[in-house]
Amino acid sequence: MTLTKRIYPDQTIGIIGGGQLGKMLAQSALRMGYKVAVLDPSEDAPASATSHLFINAPFDDEQALKQLGDASDVITYEFENIDGPLLEEMVDEYYVPQGADTLLTLQNREDEKDAIRNSGAKVVPFEKVESDEDVKAFTAKENYPVIVKTATGGYDGKGQYLIESEADLEDETIPYGDTQFIAEKYLDLEREVSLTVARSAGGKEVIFPLQENLHRNQILYRTIAPSRIDYQKEAELQVSKIMNKLHFTGVFTVEFFIDKSGVLYVNEIAPRPHNSAHHTIESCNISQFDAHILAVTNQPLPEITQHTPAIMMNLLGQDLDRLDNELFDYPEWHVHLYGKTSRKPERKMGHVTMLTDDVEAALNQLKTDFEKE
Ligand code: ADP
Ligand code: MG
Repeated sequence: MTLTKRIYPDQTIGIIGGGQLGKMLAQSALRMGYKVAVLDPSEDAPASATSHLFINAPFDDEQALKQLGDASDVITYEFENIDGPLLEEMVDEYYVPQGADTLLTLQNREDEKDAIRNSGAKVVPFEKVESDEDVKAFTAKENYPVIVKTATGGYDGKGQYLIESEADLEDETIPYGDTQFIAEKYLDLEREVSLTVARSAGGKEVIFPLQENLHRNQILYRTIAPSRIDYQKEAELQVSKIMNKLHFTGVFTVEFFIDKSGVLYVNEIAPRPHNSAHHTIESCNISQFDAHILAVTNQPLPEITQHTPAIMMNLLGQDLDRLDNELFDYPEWHVHLYGKTSRKPERKMGHVTMLTDDVEAALNQLKTDFEKE
């Protein structure tokens, strides 16, 4: 069932995945008057508190997916690793305006990078690898350092091996037999940026301002929006090439690398709301979550304007341990806590958005007040 239709308030939006992205999607949908149904395997998932119907079941539970489909007028997802055949069944039986094809391509890093490269957009040199010998053959062309990444299921740098020399390769035990891997040239990065785009079921697209992303331990640490270096036009050009090859409905974010010589490369694409666009909740006329709900319900999308520059600071488990008592000492900050019950190091527990006309001063304040680990 792929025809486009409009979904009206009071109808139900079904979301596969009830983490923080599902929760913030639900909050937008609820504000607009929609009902929300959510499926998530953890019984205290953040979005269990923001749904009319919460189905507590694994993502590959066919009956549970059917229950979600039967209860919903439109289905979307915050979780990327939905079982392929099950998603295809959902697309056949229910209204899933995002379809299955793009998600299935993006679920596999090799297919994703092939699709990006075939679109004419620029990607970092990469190759499929099945052994240390393959990695060595790749470095013979591209030199060290390289990064070996799992093709499936990776997030926040999980399943990645930085290989700086042949000795590193010997020290590291990469489980080639367990899953697919790619090797990619490791860049000396100048910056990382991301571009968030929303495309409605009817085909209109709107673009958010380019975001600048700082990572620590391969996890997003800060986002500064708009980016302090202006690659908006170049990023939009790359995205338009990708959009000629891959079909998108809803919100998606393209992550980019900029190397020391100023070359922009596409890194990866997330076909869902993205951590680097959380600031849009407070800084833009509509948030990425609003945009996604408008898009999948086939409501018109407004042009995007950002009214104030923003800094987003992620709150990982270890950050909350330090900041618990201080978070609300800054009443002008927008504090988001996702309501996850178990706090773990490196787990995303919440984020803070600061609106400021003086980004450098705010970054300095964060340094002195919060980076005293
Ligand atoms: P994930 O799917 O885990 O987000 P990414 O490929 O985006 O995987 O890698 C996470 C982070 O690791 C990137 O945002 C970047 O900081 C660093 N990284 C990954 N690949 C490279 C590379 N080829 N060169 C330099 N840094 C990289
Ligand atoms: Mg990434």
